[in-house]
Amino acid sequence: MGNETYNRKLRIGVLALQGDFEAHLKALQQAAFQLGIEVEAKAIRLPTQLDDLDGIIIPGGESTTIGKLMVLYGFNEVLQQKVREGFPIWGTCAGLILLARETDNALAGQPLLASMHIRVRRNAFGSQRESFETDLSVPVLGEAPFHAFFIRGPVIEAVGPEVEILATLDDGTIVAVREGTLLGTAFHPEVAGDPRFHHYFLRIVQSVKS
Ligand code: GLN
Repeated sequence: MGNETYNRKLRIGVLALQGDFEAHLKALQQAAFQLGIEVEAKAIRLPTQLDDLDGIIIPGGESTTIGKLMVLYGFNEVLQQKVREGFPIWGTCAGLILLARETDNALAGQPLLASMHIRVRRNAFGSQRESFETDLSVPVLGEAPFHAFFIRGPVIEAVGPEVEILATLDDGTIVAVREGTLLGTAFHPEVAGDPRFHHYFLRIVQSVKS
C-alpha cells in the first residue's frame, strides 16, 4: 500500500534560475490538491537535481538570461537527452522561447534548448499591446474559455507537422502548442488562478509515468 502511494507521487521541477518560478510552484501545489494527487514541486537550480524528476516547467522571465544560465550550469545536454527519452517539459512565455528550435533572434546566437519544431518571435505584440489579457478557447481544457495573461510574450510563427495547436488568438496567431510530451504556452497560466493548464501538464506527466 505505502509503496503504491510512493510510486504514484509525481516529482515536478520548476527551473528556478530566473523568472516567475514561485508562482508555478504554488500553482502546481494547488493543482495537485484539486486533482487529489501527490505532487512534490521543487525549485531546480542544478542539473543534478533533474535525476529523479518526472517533468519540469521552464517559467516566464527573460529567455536570454535563463538560456545563458542554462548553458553555464550545463542543463542543456541533460535536458535534451531527457527529451529524447520522453521527459515532459512545459515552457511558459520565456520557457516557450527556450523550447523552440528557432527564434527571430537566431543571429544574436541566443542559446536555446531547441526541442520543439516551432519558430517563435519574441516580444511579438509590440509596445502598444505589450501586455494584455484575453479569453482563449482551448478545446483540450474543456468548453470554458481560459483567461490568458500575455506579458511581453512571444508568438508561434510556424509549426512542424508533429505539433498540435492547442490555442490561437482570434486572428489565428498560435499561442499554445503540444508536441508529444512537450507543452508550450506564450502566456502565463501560473498567474491565471485557473488550474486547468497545470492539470493538463500533470496528466501528460502521469501518462508517461504509468
Ligand atoms: N520577453 C521575454 C523574452 O523574450 C519573455 C517574457 C516573459 O516570459 N513574460 O524572453
